[in-house]
Amino acid sequence: MTARIIDGRAAAARLRATVAEEAARLKARHAITPTLAMVLVGNDPASAIYVGAKNNAAHEAGFRALDMRHPDSLSESALLDQVGALNADPAVHGILVQMPLPPGIDPARIIAAIAPAKDVDGLTPMNIGRLAIGEYDYRRGLVACTPLGALMLIKGAIDSLEGKEALVLGRSNQVGKPMAQLLLQENCTVTVAHSRTRDIPVLCGRADIVVASVGRPEMVKGDWLKPGATVIDVGVNRITLESGKTKVVGDVAYAEARQVAGAITPVPGGVGPMTIACLMRNTLIAAAMQAGLPQPEI
Ligand code: NAP
Repeated sequence: MTARIIDGRAAAARLRATVAEEAARLKARHAITPTLAMVLVGNDPASAIYVGAKNNAAHEAGFRALDMRHPDSLSESALLDQVGALNADPAVHGILVQMPLPPGIDPARIIAAIAPAKDVDGLTPMNIGRLAIGEYDYRRGLVACTPLGALMLIKGAIDSLEGKEALVLGRSNQVGKPMAQLLLQENCTVTVAHSRTRDIPVLCGRADIVVASVGRPEMVKGDWLKPGATVIDVGVNRITLESGKTKVVGDVAYAEARQVAGAITPVPGGVGPMTIACLMRNTLIAAAMQAGLPQPEI
């Protein structure tokens, strides 16, 4: 079997186009321009690239984007003040603080300071809690962007998720845990594995859906997978080849997994583009919710 390739770039382009249409409607009918504030502290080159890409996506969607950059000498209290000012500004609908933050700033304190209504990353304790108690399904509310995008790709690849065995590899707050909650709400039977889990290949072998978010290059082997499984690879790992060149690979050994899986996301071009598209989706939804308007169903 050769797996169907799940084209995250195409799915993300469709989602972004829908978001842009809805944003234009919001502007025309209610004079609201969704506004996303992005706060970057320090000089991490990868973070600067991510913020640049989010900025471009926001402009493309017809949003206003505020690009706020600070040196890594910024204190935690100054960053908390900035978040407080953005929380209080009615013209700002979404707040994103780019991670990782420099040492000396506690990311959990900063995330917890973001107003839940403006938490377009879906990472505040309030929004994580809402997802956990079933108040947010994937169509409602502000859900973490990467697992939300991954779920959309899974739903595009499988007719019904009900009763499927799903294995989530990794238990990070930004990916693994919310991913497990979303799959649970879709009535999957969910197993979450982590670095202390025994015999991951056996768990993998019975999973209809595997979501890998471990940050270990090509950890998931083709012969671990159940034939026909849907495989979502969240990992982004830069490896150095014998030639000295570098290459980005996922957490799944793609070439061999493709021979066994029913559908699989490539890296790059799978989950990554969906993450940014879902950030735009969340910003649009935050703008509508803050204006007391019905949430667009996207
Ligand atoms: P993370 O915070 O780095 O945590 C990694 C998780 O994997 C932890 O739960 C860890 O277990 C588990 N793990 C590590 N080694 C393992 C092993 N050998 N066997 C089983 N589990 C293992 O994870 P993350 O933030 O979810 O990121 C994971 C990967 O996804 C990274 O490559 C990251 O760059 C990528 N990522 C991509 C996107 C995107 O948009 N495409 C977004 C976010 C992240 P413990 O909890 O026991 O330590």
